[in-house]
Amino acid sequence: MISAAVTRSVEGPPSIEELELAPPRADEVIVRLEASGICHTDLFAPRICPLPAVFGHEGAGIVERVGARVGKVKPGDRVLMTFGSCGHCRHCEGGASAYCEHGHHLQFGGTRDDGSTTLSHAGEAIHGSFFQQSSFATRALATERNVVLLPDDLPFDLAAPLGCGVQTGAGTVLRSLKAPAGSSIAVFGAGTVGLSAIMAARHARLGPIVAIDIDPARLELARELGATHALDAREGDVAARIRAIARGGVMYSLETSAALPALNDAIACLARRGECALLTVPALGEPVPFSLLPLLSGGRRLIAVLEGDSEPDVFIPQLAAMHRAGQLPLERLVHEYAFADIGRALADAAAGRAVKPLLRF
Ligand SMILES: [Zn+2]
Ligand SMILES: [Zn+2]
Repeated sequence: MISAAVTRSVEGPPSIEELELAPPRADEVIVRLEASGICHTDLFAPRICPLPAVFGHEGAGIVERVGARVGKVKPGDRVLMTFGSCGHCRHCEGGASAYCEHGHHLQFGGTRDDGSTTLSHAGEAIHGSFFQQSSFATRALATERNVVLLPDDLPFDLAAPLGCGVQTGAGTVLRSLKAPAGSSIAVFGAGTVGLSAIMAARHARLGPIVAIDIDPARLELARELGATHALDAREGDVAARIRAIARGGVMYSLETSAALPALNDAIACLARRGECALLTVPALGEPVPFSLLPLLSGGRRLIAVLEGDSEPDVFIPQLAAMHRAGQLPLERLVHEYAFADIGRALADAAAGRAVKPLLRF
């Protein structure tokens, strides 16, 4: 039996229930959770995933059991769980597993790749396998592919957010855009993803680094983590102010805020041939009005990025090394809650009261 936070309705907070967890198949791993981050995807998941379900996709803990064919980890190993991928489609084989052909089902389908559920309550099937982990639980079933060995010196509470939010922001700068030193960048939204992008931009010696948000405390944190300029979007003329800082516009922008004005500004602030990386969309993908003319008139590009193009077994150790070197001060982002307080932690995440709420088990 495990304790898990079960979401039974779109509106309601989850309730902590005792569930049965399936034993590991040959390529699967059971992890005893020590910490799990809460990411914005957990907040909108009840609207797009089958219910009842257990969410959570930034889990870190200790391997408890492994299937017969698992070679990457063994019981007792400290691991992080990240997004699921199949390992055999053209994108996985091409080193781009964030774009796995089966990725949407593996993250949001509520089951294993073959459609089987892994959680139950007195015979009732509960959807698990969220990002092939469902980490809002004392134990999680993952696949060998989506667990990553952790170095001994990285605590679980700082490791957990690397599994989604941090690798997404940092990876977009370092792996997707491959922004060279000295280039200018604007980051819209100073949450975990945006702040991770800012820390990565400082690490890569970009500049100027402009942060845009509507929360003065987050703008101050952005400055402390590496932003050379911090703009309050409520004061208006965002694109013009960015163009005044980086003459002719910035070469790179990241849109992490899901606000429609930010999407327009993230394109309007670009220099000619500049590139905007879209990491989220307004209104869960509803059609939105925005002009394509700024793209065409200056050869600007708009790209969408998932998980920062991370290959987790390669990139997570690089992020751990950045933390060790003082370049990725993750401790500035996390705010801890006991697992029993998950309702409050989710409410604080939704209201923006905590940058990275983190559950401890
Ligand atoms: Zn794949
Ligand atoms: Zn996430």
